[in-house]
Amino acid sequence: MAGKSIGRKRVVVVGGSFGGVNAAYELRRRLPKDAEITVISRDAEFTFIPSLPWVIMGWRDPARLQVHLDAPLRRQRIRFVQGEVKELDPQKCEVRTASQAHPYDALVIASGAELDYAAVPGLGPEEGHTCSAFTVAEAVAARDALAKVLAADKGRILIGAAAGASCIGPAYEIVMMIDSMLKRFRKRHRFSITFITPEPFLGHFGVGGIGVSPRLLQEEFAERHIESAVNAPISSVVPGHLILADGSEYAFDFSLVIPAFLGCPFVRGVDGMANPKGFITVTPQLASTKFANVYAAGVAVAITPPEPTPVPVAVPKTGHMTELMAQAAARNIAAEFAGGVKVDGLTLPSSCIADAGDTAFYMFADPFLPPRNKVIVKRGKWARYLKLAFEKYYIARIRHDLPSLDFGW
Ligand SMILES: Cc1cc2nc3c(=O)[nH]c(=O)nc-3n(C[C@H](O)[C@H](O)[C@H](O)COP(=O)(O)OP(=O)(O)OC[C@H]3O[C@@H](n4cnc5c(N)ncnc54)[C@H](O)[C@@H]3O)c2cc1C
Repeated sequence: MAGKSIGRKRVVVVGGSFGGVNAAYELRRRLPKDAEITVISRDAEFTFIPSLPWVIMGWRDPARLQVHLDAPLRRQRIRFVQGEVKELDPQKCEVRTASQAHPYDALVIASGAELDYAAVPGLGPEEGHTCSAFTVAEAVAARDALAKVLAADKGRILIGAAAGASCIGPAYEIVMMIDSMLKRFRKRHRFSITFITPEPFLGHFGVGGIGVSPRLLQEEFAERHIESAVNAPISSVVPGHLILADGSEYAFDFSLVIPAFLGCPFVRGVDGMANPKGFITVTPQLASTKFANVYAAGVAVAITPPEPTPVPVAVPKTGHMTELMAQAAARNIAAEFAGGVKVDGLTLPSSCIADAGDTAFYMFADPFLPPRNKVIVKRGKWARYLKLAFEKYYIARIRHDLPSLDFGW
């Protein structure tokens, strides 16, 4: 398709993470040479977010998880603008940062979510009393807070997720890694570890579980002596204490809680484009249900949970799914411009590795939401090494637009 004359097209991609960079690279591969592709991202760097739990443990240097986007994108003839999109005007077909308007023929929104700490009084690292894991700054602050607590002779560790959270996997990783680390220091017997989750059972992950993941995680928590509370909406946090909706109170010396997400403010500002939480409603081809030349990928997309749960749990959009969605959105934009068959970008598989410090879990689900054609769940140290290798490959891939590898998330 590249090379066919379709008039000079401008595609703007908002976001410089798994969705944005993959969409931009795929657009470059599929659109004619003269197409103008612009990535606008608030952050100057791509961060390999799945390794942030290792930063919290002090096992990884955060600087090694980041790639400055300007040079790699320029090499692929993709313009990079570091800036925050404040406004989207779908009628005029332009997005605006504080200083500039960027017109488009097609737009890809891969701007993730806003972290909704305000939904629970006292939640979050800035105005609240709990740590978090979504940015390098948050992971470094969590690392320092955890190190202080682990240096003491005894303590209470509380890890969890707020009602409505979707990205609960990292909380499982962190709680098991802390357990592993304390065992390594031979201090585990002097610390209590508790896990609080809105999920109806351990290993639900917002998708009703993946194969035997609920059983494996229940056994794992039992072997590790990790106490847990499920169906547990957090109502507030005060210094050193987390309070659930039923009034029960958990004291902690270190706490990390995954918040719920909201869609990005510039998306929420457009009438009718998003669900009540601000996530973009899309067709199976990932085009906005309201504006045909606006596409979305990754966390920004609205996906309905496969089943209602007593306490709300949202569907996670994993890095692997985000990458596949971004590639599908790019293919569909190319098909829109030049004619061609569009692909389904919503019924996707996902693979994921959850590290547990001394072992790891590899999970594959196709499609990600049940009922599924194929599920693999395996436990073993090998999965830790695979995750580490995958991180290195992925960072090289962002630098050099390497081909996709369908494993290892
Ligand atoms: C601690 C942690 C561990 C994880 N581990 C795994 C894992 O092991 N496996 C896995 O598959 N997934 C994992 N995930 C999930 C994975 O990180 C996400 O699926 C992925 O980051 C989603 O990518 P995205 O591009 O949709 O959004 P994001 O990664 O959230 O990126 C959003 C991008 O948009 C930019 N942006 C936001 N607002 C604006 C704006 N207004 N204007 C311009 N730019 C904007 C941001 O700067 C950023 O570049 C993990 C997530 C976390 C937090």
